[in-house]
Amino acid sequence: MKKTIKRVAIANRGEVAVRIIHACEELGLETVLLHSEPDMGSKAYRMATKTICIGPAASSESYLNIDANIKGALAGGADAIHPGFGFLSENASFAEAVEKAGMTFVGPSADSIRRLGDKVQCKALAKAGGLPLVPGYEGEDQSLERLMKEVEGIGYPVIVKAAAGGGGRGMKLILKASDAKEAIESAQREAQSAFGSSKVFLEKYLDRAKHIEFQVFGDSSGRVVHLFDRECSVQRRHQKIIEEAISPSLTDNLRRQMGEAAAAIATLGKYKGAGTVEFLLQDGEFYLLEVNTRLQVEHPVTEMVLGVDLVKAQLLTAMGEFIFDDQPRIPRGHAIECRLYAENPYLGGIPSTGLLGTVKWPEGPGRRFEYGFEKGDEITPYYDPMIAKVIVWDESRSRAIRKMIHTLKDSIVFGVHTNIPYLIEILNHPEFVEGTMTTRFIEKNFPGALAAPELTAAEKALVELGSKHKPVAGSSLSNSAAESSSSMPWQGYWRGV
Ligand code: ADP
Repeated sequence: MKKTIKRVAIANRGEVAVRIIHACEELGLETVLLHSEPDMGSKAYRMATKTICIGPAASSESYLNIDANIKGALAGGADAIHPGFGFLSENASFAEAVEKAGMTFVGPSADSIRRLGDKVQCKALAKAGGLPLVPGYEGEDQSLERLMKEVEGIGYPVIVKAAAGGGGRGMKLILKASDAKEAIESAQREAQSAFGSSKVFLEKYLDRAKHIEFQVFGDSSGRVVHLFDRECSVQRRHQKIIEEAISPSLTDNLRRQMGEAAAAIATLGKYKGAGTVEFLLQDGEFYLLEVNTRLQVEHPVTEMVLGVDLVKAQLLTAMGEFIFDDQPRIPRGHAIECRLYAENPYLGGIPSTGLLGTVKWPEGPGRRFEYGFEKGDEITPYYDPMIAKVIVWDESRSRAIRKMIHTLKDSIVFGVHTNIPYLIEILNHPEFVEGTMTTRFIEKNFPGALAAPELTAAEKALVELGSKHKPVAGSSLSNSAAESSSSMPWQGYWRGV
């Protein structure tokens, strides 16, 4: 069914809000940015056709507040809402509320979100569809005795996860019987406080697995296809840092089987728009992990190897105008994305906040920078510390790695620390270069803080002078008070996606 969309409200912030505004502008659509108080004046704020403040800094009162977002979008005259990723993007009640208010939700239906986005329901659907799952327990009986018995039955190591969880939160590892009680109870507590439900499920922990995911897309005719794979094994605390397309680890046969499985589960869930089917791959066997019913942070690497624009495709699908043609889709070359965090790699990655000084991205062929903050913008402690994504494309994986290292070395971000030095170390590591890394790569090879480089006498003098914007290739120092704080709101769980 065709729908007229003229003005799109963006229920998000930072680089993804900018990404969506670009796509809207190119399609001739107006935009309304629904923002919190501290995000007034951000890059997306400066770009949007219209801006509406929907609440204070606390996400629960702004970006996660369904009512505030709906009211803001209506007041801004929007006829559609794009949720971006994180925040309300996988919230079925939000999708429903948008439609009920007479607007179009740019994403799958509330029903699809419930069937696929809920980890436990998704497993039930996958089981019925014959897809391979990690052995585990996702039953209703949540008593400690039952869960402990199931852990024994699965065999160690076991991972306990919050049923309503996400972003790597609410997960606990059980290595031996004596850990089980405490791990289950602490996962239940964390699940209750972070997601409002103490329900957990259990999975066998695969200790040498790769994280491989498939982009799926359902067009306006209801046809669902996969758009190949991404490798996201470089993770810290179960959260991705570097992603690539396509994976260096799949044979043609595995790629075909996994791609078919991904399209099959999305089809079962009557999927519309962009989604991601995540798998773990170990010893040549793959297992469904979960489905993310939204645009993924790492979508640019798929765009780069396929020459597609997933955000425009989402918007056109919402208008009922996007139909896949029958041309074969063939990935070309290799793309890598690095997530840039405002954090101090020399102090174990503690967040770094403050005003951004000069920021310079080294443009060049096959380089793409997605950012939501510029010189003079403030990196606040309220939200996820990802400040930008650097994406490169080249003809081969080894060339793409070299291009990424050069690009990061030439990137300049003054005012806050960034993880650029850490990313460069990872990109140079032999296991990464070979492409054999598993999800435990960081824990194995980079367990602690990076050793700080020796400063030159001139640099030391500058630090002593307390300079806030000292130029260091690829990063800079900040004397922000946040660096010595151990209780920043996002410590311990940095990502929502
Ligand atoms: P979230 O929704 O919080 O992101 P996921 O279930 O997608 O959680 O898992 C995130 C990451 O945690 C995976 O990419 C993987 O590294 C690790 N993980 C999750 N489940 C398992 C498992 N059963 N065995 C090994 N690693 C796992």
